[in-house]
Amino acid sequence: MTIPKDTSGPSSSATANPLPVDAARTIIRSALTPVETTEHVALRAALGRVLARDIVSPIDVPAHDNAAMDGYAFAYGTHPRQAPFALAVAGEARAGHPFERSCGALECVRIMTGAPMPAGCDTVVPQEFATRTGSSVTFDAQAIVPGANCRRAGEDLARGRPALKSGRIIRPADLGLLASLGVAEVAVRRRVRVAFFSTGDELRSIGEPLDTGAVYDSNRYTLHAMLARLDIEALDLGVVRDEPETIEAALRAAAGSADVVLTSGGVSVGDADLTARMTATFGDVAFWQLAMRPGRPLAFGRLWPDGRAAGSRSALYFGLPGNPVAVMVSFYQFVREALVVMSGAIAPGPLQFAAASSAAIKKRPGRTEFLRAVATRDAAGRWSVAPTRSQSSGVLSSMSEANCFIVLAHDQGDVPAGENVEIMPFEGLI
Ligand code: AMP
Ligand code: MG
Repeated sequence: MTIPKDTSGPSSSATANPLPVDAARTIIRSALTPVETTEHVALRAALGRVLARDIVSPIDVPAHDNAAMDGYAFAYGTHPRQAPFALAVAGEARAGHPFERSCGALECVRIMTGAPMPAGCDTVVPQEFATRTGSSVTFDAQAIVPGANCRRAGEDLARGRPALKSGRIIRPADLGLLASLGVAEVAVRRRVRVAFFSTGDELRSIGEPLDTGAVYDSNRYTLHAMLARLDIEALDLGVVRDEPETIEAALRAAAGSADVVLTSGGVSVGDADLTARMTATFGDVAFWQLAMRPGRPLAFGRLWPDGRAAGSRSALYFGLPGNPVAVMVSFYQFVREALVVMSGAIAPGPLQFAAASSAAIKKRPGRTEFLRAVATRDAAGRWSVAPTRSQSSGVLSSMSEANCFIVLAHDQGDVPAGENVEIMPFEGLI
């Protein structure tokens, strides 16, 4: 992978041209390679993991034709079909207790849901359309439908057919489906490893006193949580002070033990903001600045902890902004997709649809904006959306309050109240 180099560096960002969001996505996508190692896990532990190979069904599911209703099973072809015509009840079939002999002409079998269809039978009449008199039964004429109420062998999954494709993120239904095949263990890709740390002399860990100008480090908690939702192996390297040597050591250590390194803070220009500058000595950086809000100072590149000799190990690097909302927006807009691709998953992107904006929105063309917003659905099923009161990139409570992003495209201008905007619901994304 070659990452196009941005030689402008953070120090010249005042003059640097911020990269449009779509161009940044293209650069990031071209840098991604899925992890290859696979491991075998017990079925329950496979939830949320990425399937490493196709699962081919070793059996028919269901294994036998069986009844879909409680009623009476018989061979449609041998029924006289001129109701009322009594059939003799030859016996009973219950789930787990098949009727052992075959069912003859003018005979039927009392059958319960899930019981195997007796030999010769192909049709079930539900019990509510049957009238039983002693050991014989008659059916309502309209209820005698050929092949009705019978689940066919292999109708759910046919033997030899792919049941689940490689790259699938295993969901609850898949776990049950694998169990229905008798699969006890599955091959999954190893988890992507992500190492992350926060930078900033003002940051304090929970439990420490807050002296003047200090803030608690919240980014490591949001990052921890966002990674946990993606089933990522996360390595929290704590808070790192704004000192070049300390940051360099932390970046090298992180890159030496992970596939992806995330940092927060320090990408923007400023004397104490040294993270970005440091990467220049042992990494490539494709971009520093994006035409987006929030999240303008976002770095992406690659780190070589042991130097850049051919074949030496490397890790992807995302230098996220420091502002707590900007961290989350850049994670969801860039890091999330990168981690999904690296995990080997073939997964659709997040849901996005139109909703009427209940407020007028000021928007300058030339950058993509992600507003925190609350979407609601009225009684008629129409969606409308209102931006949260604060759109400051430092106000984390606006993320808590919101249930979606409003996505305003690069070229979009002001939005009048009532006009449709694209929204990206948190459900499914977060
Ligand atoms: P920076 O990008 O380092 O200039 O930080 C931008 C703003 O985000 C500053 O107000 C920082 O104090 C704040 N900030 C940076 N890192 C964190 C963090 N880990 N937790 C909470 N706030 C942070
Ligand atoms: Mg900082």
